[in-house]
Amino acid sequence: MAACAAVAGGAALAYAAPAATWLGGVRRLVPALAGEGDRGHVALTFDDGPDPVSTPCFLRELRRLDCRATFFVLGETLERHPEFGRRIAAEGHEVAVHGWRHVNALLARPGAVAGEMAAAARLVRDVTGARPHWYRPPYGVLSAEALAAARMLRLRPVLWTVWGKDWTASATPGSVLAAVTPGLRGGATVLLHDCDHTSAAGSWRSALGALPELVDRCRAEGLAVGPLGEHGVRRRDGHGSSWRSGCQVTVSAPGRR
Ligand SMILES: [Zn+2]
Repeated sequence: MAACAAVAGGAALAYAAPAATWLGGVRRLVPALAGEGDRGHVALTFDDGPDPVSTPCFLRELRRLDCRATFFVLGETLERHPEFGRRIAAEGHEVAVHGWRHVNALLARPGAVAGEMAAAARLVRDVTGARPHWYRPPYGVLSAEALAAARMLRLRPVLWTVWGKDWTASATPGSVLAAVTPGLRGGATVLLHDCDHTSAAGSWRSALGALPELVDRCRAEGLAVGPLGEHGVRRRDGHGSSWRSGCQVTVSAPGRR
């Protein structure tokens, strides 16, 4: 199934319950969780890597564009290909945590998400030499356990404001641009994938092909493009409140994205 794509049903974003936080209503109500940032900046993020074939293509293109981004990596692939994690970091990008395996938190056994998040965060630190700062749950689904683990590990959960729908077999650079364009504005966090680990085979080429035009469009609008660390994502109250309070909002949004 597509990386970060949807599960059916409503959402209850509460500390005591799992949450389908990919829902648009939830993300609009908790803008910091969606990655709303500075008005003059667009955050560029890639999920599901690293991949020894596709990730270097993205690194090459980003270098050509003189652009840096945030890569949400999986522990199981980073463990197999640590050299690509090191290379991502060495080229000035952020390496962030997407979990160990690409598991929906709603379907995981108790303790699995927390344990795997901790292992992935530790591996990112060991591979890159830097503590990761961000966590994006697979499928955009946060659970109470994941929220608690992220807080303990000092990882800030962040989703996205717009995605390229780059995970399908029919995705093209044009379709990715068309999907992103309505939400491409200052403060946006763009979700793309630098591999097809959980997507249709070869679908990453659609995101790669869209990248130059996407960056050019932002810059033509006077917007800087960069990693989440430069995005100015504020806490819910704007003054650094804890994520616990940010995740006690209860929302009913059946069927919405
Ligand atoms: Zn993913």
